[in-house]
Amino acid sequence: MATRLDGKTTSRTIRDEIKAEVQTIVHQGGKIPHLAAVLVGEDGASETYVNGKVRDCNEVGFKSTLRRFDATISEEDLLKEVQALNDDPDIDGLIVQLPLPDHISVEKVTEQIRPEKDVDGFHPVNVGRMAKNLPAYISATPFGILELLKRYNVETSGKHCVVIGRSDIVGSPVSILMARKGNPGNATVTLCHSRTADLAAEVRRADIIIAALGKPEFVTADMVKEGAVVIDVGITRIPDETKKSGFRLVGDVKFEEVEQKASFITPVPGGVGPMTRASLLYNTLLAAQRKIYS
Ligand code: NAD
Repeated sequence: MATRLDGKTTSRTIRDEIKAEVQTIVHQGGKIPHLAAVLVGEDGASETYVNGKVRDCNEVGFKSTLRRFDATISEEDLLKEVQALNDDPDIDGLIVQLPLPDHISVEKVTEQIRPEKDVDGFHPVNVGRMAKNLPAYISATPFGILELLKRYNVETSGKHCVVIGRSDIVGSPVSILMARKGNPGNATVTLCHSRTADLAAEVRRADIIIAALGKPEFVTADMVKEGAVVIDVGITRIPDETKKSGFRLVGDVKFEEVEQKASFITPVPGGVGPMTRASLLYNTLLAAQRKIYS
């Protein structure tokens, strides 16, 4: 039976560490970290995510600013608003919640954020620096995965890691990070996607599986080698009348059966999700302390 990689408890520990750091900053009269979040439109899930991020900031003692705009805002006006936040010296970290309405280019908005304030790590400068193993903001989910592996002392060096999914925000960056020199890292990485010829065969060879494809319970026990480490990034809402919310969250891994074979496994919920939230706080702290771009 696998050991659970408990993201909830680990993220609590990280948030407590950040809170203590903020108290030290306050005590020494230093700069209190300040995160600005931009929300466009009224998408329910985005609203939940942004509110959670603002709540997290308040909880650790950060300042936060939430700028909300109507879904009809023009691209030009949004770019100006982002620039104003770039120019505000009190704001250390700046995020724009995705998705954006169709008439606004995600690329343009992402590139408008100054790399020094891009605590989501989506700007091409940060992605490039991350790939070159230079100091960079690493996007929250890949960073959270690495931190979880590190805090549970999971060996990655020399291991064969199979990543399923090649998105810009999870699959691609985590594949680079796992192959990079460092700890965690130094793994031999196979990046699988929707065009991979025999995905099950690839996954079966993995010492570490990172599933980030967004297909509920896709990874089954027959695809998992005995003793593999299984990181489940997927989150899909499945209708469930027994829940107050009307849905339950399901990962990309068939948890009950894979748990029997794996050495370590992340649950959904309570695995990668909470780590993602803690990582954004950590990046904002780094921004306030000018640790990445000094
Ligand atoms: P995405 O839709 O952008 O990318 C999915 C990737 O999976 C694509 O590269 C695609 O090629 C690949 N894929 C799809 N079907 C496949 C198949 N049958 N076989 C092999 N590859 C396949 O998704 P994303 O943004 O990377 O998110 C993936 C999942 O992770 C979603 O469920 C999302 O909700 C979740 N997520 C969770 C967190 C978190 O904090 N836990 C953060 C981000 C995303």
